[in-house]
This record gives sequence, C-alpha cells and structure tokens, in this order.
Amino acid sequence: MAAPQGYPLLCLENPLLDIQGVGDEAMLEKYGVKANDAILAEEKHMGLYEDLLQNHDAKLIAGGAAQNTARGAQYMLPENSVVYIGCVGKDKYADILKETCEKAGVHTEYRVDEVQPTGKCGVIITGHNRSMITHLAAANEYKIEHLKQPHIWALVEKAQVYYVGGYHLTVSVPAVLALAEEAATNNKPFVFSLSAPFIPQFFKDQLDSVIPYVDYLIGNETEALAFSESHGWGLTDIAEIAKKLTTLEKKNTQRPRIVIVTQGTLPTVTAVSTASGIETKEYPVHEIPKEKINDTTGAGDAFAGGFVAGIVQGKSLEESIDQGQWLASLSIQELGPSFPFPKQTY
Ligand code: ADP
Ligand code: MG
Ligand code: MG
Repeated sequence: MAAPQGYPLLCLENPLLDIQGVGDEAMLEKYGVKANDAILAEEKHMGLYEDLLQNHDAKLIAGGAAQNTARGAQYMLPENSVVYIGCVGKDKYADILKETCEKAGVHTEYRVDEVQPTGKCGVIITGHNRSMITHLAAANEYKIEHLKQPHIWALVEKAQVYYVGGYHLTVSVPAVLALAEEAATNNKPFVFSLSAPFIPQFFKDQLDSVIPYVDYLIGNETEALAFSESHGWGLTDIAEIAKKLTTLEKKNTQRPRIVIVTQGTLPTVTAVSTASGIETKEYPVHEIPKEKINDTTGAGDAFAGGFVAGIVQGKSLEESIDQGQWLASLSIQELGPSFPFPKQTY
C-alpha cells in the first residue's frame, strides 16, 4: 500500500538485475569490452548473460543505479521515505527486484511490460575492474503515460525531492522532464546523476535538455571529463569542469546549481554558484583499510543515496556529502550495491 502522505523522495530510472561473475582478458576480448566500462548491450553481447551464469558462477544481485541509490537513501531515512519508479518485465527477476526493494523499505511503482523481460546488467569482474554491459529490455519500455496516471502523479506531487539517474535519458526523456518541471515549478530540489561517460558522449542533446532543471548534479571523474569533452570545453581539471557546469542555464533561479564530482578514493569536488562567484571545495572520502574492501560496484550509487538522504533531511551540503562518503564506505564492504544489516547509523 502506498503511504497516503506520499514519500519525500521519488526516484526514477532503470530497474536491472545484475549478473555478476569473474572473467579474464579472454572474456573481455570475446565480447569486445573494456575492463572498466558501462555500455548498452549490442547483438554481439546477447550470449554474455547465459555465459556468466553457466560458466562463471555468476551471482544475481538487485541492481539498477538509481534503484541502488533509492535503497541507500532509505537506509538512512525514516520508514516510508522513498518511492522508486521504472519498468520491469513479467518474470521472476522482477519479483527478485521488488522483494529486494521491499526488504530495504523502498516502495516500488513499476510499470510491468507484457512483452520484454526484466532488464539485466552483465558484470565481468577482472581484478578490481568491472565491465558492465546492460541489456535494458523491459527497462527501456518505461512510458510517461505510466507516470501521469492519477495515483502515480499524486506521488510525484507529494514528493519533496527528486532523484533521476542519467541512464534514464536513453529511455524516456519526457518522463525525466515531467519530474524536472514539477520540481522547478514548485522549487523542490531536482538531483541528477550523469551515471556513465556514454551519457554525455552519446546522449548529449537529451542531457542538455535536462541540465537546466538540475539543482544537484552528481558524477564521477570520468563522467565529468566526458561531459567536458563532448561539449568541446577543452577542460581536463575536475574543479574547472565542475565550475563551468554551475554556469549552464538554470530554470529555477531560486536555487543555485551545485555540482558534485566524486573521484574514487580521491576527495570529492564541489562547485556552487553564489552571488560572489563560484566556490569550489574538496571533501575527503571515508578511508577504509584495503583488506576490508569487498566490491566497489555501486560506490557512486551509494554515495548518491547518502547524499540525497541528507538533502531530504534538509542537511547542509557538507553534511550531505559526508553522509554520501559514509554510506559508500559501508557499501563497498558488501557484495554488490548493498548495505550492512543490522543497520548501522551515521
Ligand atoms: P563511481 O562508483 O560512480 O565510479 P566513485 O568511484 O567516485 O563512484 O566512488 C564514489 C564514492 O565512493 C567516493 O567519493 C568515496 O566516498 C567512495 N569510495 C569509492 N572507493 C572507495 C575506497 N576505495 N575507499 C573509500 N571510499 C571509497
Ligand atoms: Mg569510480
Ligand atoms: Mg557511478
């Protein structure tokens, strides 16, 4: 049952099941992928998923970047704080995703596609590298008509903060823009993640149509560099890129644009446009001993979860970033993008 008062945080993106197995150079070569990458699957990748399951002892893990972020935010927020929206198929994989969300206290409002199976993300692990090959399938069938149904749109209106993963720009830009406009019109924060270098590279126009609505823009260092490159900025310094991102057109002038770039173990860089100019800052990560690191998949998703939880709680930028670093440090000590139970408190 949906909470009658709604959920303070509403997230939208692509629900995916991760199929994660250990591979080697030969496997990367076989599928023509880089050791560290995130791409959309082509015809030549379709055999990967069975290959992982049959020959690489693959694990099935609930994934989908913003769905991870939704679980992460709920981890830090009071009960019934988060609703997640996306499209799944009519299969057992969708049941696994829904159950994982429910166990984490995240309410889901999936569109269920009658034809396509639930989307999957094949993850080839080689050492500390992760190559992610996503077959969106049903996740690609999200429709704005689903969002505009009265009972779903009521949740949109009741939400106080929006989080959209950039991966959704390959699916339904109208749905992203509908949330973005609702946020801007009512002066509610709109948080957006760049998600992967291929988004600024190959979905530049879609991205540029959403940027004016973004209050908090989150990305990692490679995504920031990809943005600079695809926009012909000629900038390679992360702080400079972050600064320039704050100056792009903004619809809601009641909120400054805040850009947050994470860089793995290096400090997180922020840029904020203020009346007296653009301020940049660095925030150290929560260091953990190497031997405690289990799996860094989804570190950025977890960071975004802790961060956006802070925004929902009305915390300062400093505190929200520190919450992000804290949650990311917990997540990388677990397998896949998950969080320790019993719950730890910040
Ligand atoms: P992404 O997963 O999107 O590439 P990052 O690699 O930048 O994102 O990681 C996001 C955040 O996760 C970092 O800002 C940091 O807080 C945390 N993190 C990642 N790797 C480590 C690590 N080895 N030790 C501690 N924190 C880490
Ligand atoms: Mg990284
Ligand atoms: Mg990331």
